[in-house]
Amino acid sequence: MTVLGGIAKIEEMRGALLRWYSFHGRKWIPWKVKPDGSIPKQLDKLPVYPILVAEVMLQQTQLKVVLPYWKNWMKNFPTVLDLSNAIDQDILLVWQGLGYYSRAKRIHKTSQELVKILGDSDHADPESWPQDLDIWIAFPGIGRTTAASIISSAFNLPEALLDGNVKRILTRLIGSQENFSKDLKRLWTVSDSFLDRDFPRDFNQALMDLGATICTFKKPKCFCCPLQKYCFAYDQGDPTKVPIKGSSKVLPHSVIAIGLVFNAFGEVLIDQRKSDQTMSGMWEFPGGKQEKGESIEFTVVRELFEELGVKVKVQKKLLEFDHSYSHKKLHFIVYICQLISGIPKPLESVQIKWVHPSELNNYPFPAANQKMITAIKDYTVLETNI
Ligand code: SF4
Repeated sequence: MTVLGGIAKIEEMRGALLRWYSFHGRKWIPWKVKPDGSIPKQLDKLPVYPILVAEVMLQQTQLKVVLPYWKNWMKNFPTVLDLSNAIDQDILLVWQGLGYYSRAKRIHKTSQELVKILGDSDHADPESWPQDLDIWIAFPGIGRTTAASIISSAFNLPEALLDGNVKRILTRLIGSQENFSKDLKRLWTVSDSFLDRDFPRDFNQALMDLGATICTFKKPKCFCCPLQKYCFAYDQGDPTKVPIKGSSKVLPHSVIAIGLVFNAFGEVLIDQRKSDQTMSGMWEFPGGKQEKGESIEFTVVRELFEELGVKVKVQKKLLEFDHSYSHKKLHFIVYICQLISGIPKPLESVQIKWVHPSELNNYPFPAANQKMITAIKDYTVLETNI
């Protein structure tokens, strides 16, 4: 007897979920079909590299967001060998916009470790790839759920997973009164006991699909859920009360002043973030956080002196906008500046570059910078036409 109930009840639940999946599951997901586009049978194995890329992208990101990035990635780095040989800048450029950039660096490192393991074997053959959960978990950026999802998808091996969707479903089924983070051990046990060991690939996908389309966070569609009659939270009347929400944190808020400096050729100055910074290796426009008591114009002048060793004069404001991350909110104010004295040096960056606005898209920038790039292009077109 488990927290889900006895064997017979669990069997019934698995059957209900798999039947639902056979009609409503997202069986078209491109990395979960065979190379000829057909649906894999129980003994079929799938190419591992496309699944690995997708599963890393899906950490913290929804399927509909991941799809175009995955397609573009597979065009740019079609094999694990291509990825292992790629340079950081090219990888960041393709990952650009997907956020959580450390994932791109970790999958790059993982590809290099995998190439060593795969050696001269046929990398397209799933049989050449590791099938052991512990081997996968040892790779950079691969947690238990990602590893389990790769193994169950590629090899149809019985590994349970516990991503955000699965946690929510299981928590509601058992009516957990704990916050996720305090109940992880139990949820892993529930996930493992629920797993259908004959059809782990379909079962895991069914759980993920149910969480994404039916047992959603805000408005679960219990009226068409295959697990409704087994669900404690539904039985209690309001499933949205489960999982228990932690107290919502107030995100820290900062104002960031950006100074755009142009040279006589119409090129704008950009700098590259250091390896000890978040989003390392990406490019950005110089600037920084407004300190207490500073005017925003003073912040620009101070930041550009500290970052580049130059004196600038603030000329005019180009734009301002808000940008939210999961852990903080930023308000950017972007100024056009005139270089008064000094030669820019990379005092707080890896390197600096003068780049024509039309070539900015050749450099990977964090998402917040895309609005600035569009505004810079519009500004330079306007200035040229005056
Ligand atoms: S009945 Fe509702 S709350 Fe329970 S698993 Fe189904 S969708 Fe989720």
